[in-house]
Amino acid sequence: MDMDTTTTRAHDGVRTAPRALATEAVHAGRDDLARQGLHAPPIDLSTTYPSYDSRGEAARIDAFATTGAEPDGPPVYGRLGNPTVARFETALARLEGTEAAVAFASGMAALSAVLLVRGSMGLRHVVAVRPLYGCSDHLLTAGLLGSEVTWTGPAGVADALRPDTGLVIVESPANPTLAEVDLRAVAHACGSVPLLVDNTFATPVLQRPAEQGARLVLHSATKYLGGHGDVLAGVVACDEELAGRLRQVRFATGGVLHPLAGYLLLRGLSTLPVRVRAASATAADLARRLAADPRVARVHYPRIGGAMVAFEVYGDPHEVIAGVRLITPAVSLGSVDTLIQHPASISHRIVDADDRRGAGVSDQLLRMSVGLEDVEDLWSDLDQALGRPERGAGNCATHHNEPALADGRAPLRR
Ligand SMILES: *Cc1c(COP(=O)(O)O)cnc(C)c1O
Repeated sequence: MDMDTTTTRAHDGVRTAPRALATEAVHAGRDDLARQGLHAPPIDLSTTYPSYDSRGEAARIDAFATTGAEPDGPPVYGRLGNPTVARFETALARLEGTEAAVAFASGMAALSAVLLVRGSMGLRHVVAVRPLYGCSDHLLTAGLLGSEVTWTGPAGVADALRPDTGLVIVESPANPTLAEVDLRAVAHACGSVPLLVDNTFATPVLQRPAEQGARLVLHSATKYLGGHGDVLAGVVACDEELAGRLRQVRFATGGVLHPLAGYLLLRGLSTLPVRVRAASATAADLARRLAADPRVARVHYPRIGGAMVAFEVYGDPHEVIAGVRLITPAVSLGSVDTLIQHPASISHRIVDADDRRGAGVSDQLLRMSVGLEDVEDLWSDLDQALGRPERGAGNCATHHNEPALADGRAPLRR
């Protein structure tokens, strides 16, 4: 029984009794459907919306320009908002326990919009803790959007703040080392500067940063929220004031989410708690096996759990990537199938090598996103991909797992 509850508003604005996370996951953003005689959410592909009342439209556009609040009634134009995407936004806000959420075409579009919102207020300085996802690191380091970054550790945040600091950014667990940050302590150190937590790896199933003081919770929804490797999306959960500004930036810069993607994300959310818990159990098991394996130098697995495992091998990490057969050697994460990649070559290649190593991303590190396959099948694949131990062959951890039918698992394919 999941005792986590959420307390924000329903899709139609009616306050409802707190419901458990698993219940919200399947019902949030859908509260009006039964009244409309629907079961599956409708997909609205309109780019524009007819109106015979242009005075009324002028007033609605003025209101949006002032507050960024979602217009009542149909949107004027698809870049201003979309009803199917709004369902996903409502649902994600409920799961993260925030007033609102604003969806974007990708995680990077979401982060860009946050930087533009703060930069446009003259607050261009960002304090950030490494490691971050490689492209987030690059966006900040290169100053592509006119921001200036100070990199520091979690304990250095308070000292790094300046009068023009507009944002503090952390990831926890971080991509790719799974390093964890004490979010409450960092939020405290931020004072009045908004803390953005990238919650992509934990998902609201394992961690709700807004409850610990984060003002902005960012997801690459491409990962666990979508959950099936077929949607590129980003979302920011936050209070209504920041959401209004994010909608205005989204309207002006155009990084909108497609309604089909909004539909798939809402559908993905309904199984999020089940997927994350199942994959986490398998990941924890694999992390234990890897930690006991003489071919593995070090295993990183978060205290809060999750479906990501990072490990450093004694041998050649490229051979492991070349050797997997069931596991897919690919960047990205959070899908139903298990993926593995070499951060120094792919996800964090764009980060300067010294900065990367300084952030704990060693050249021996592999990052694995554990999916929903059977743990014994995954272990057999990892075991063969890890190859022969370089030394200490006396304790060769080669498991030969027999088909186990009693617990309902399919027989192993050999
Ligand atoms: C993938 C990722 C991003 C970027 O998201 P996209 O959807 O690929 O743009 C940002 N943060 C983290 C932690 C990620 O893993």
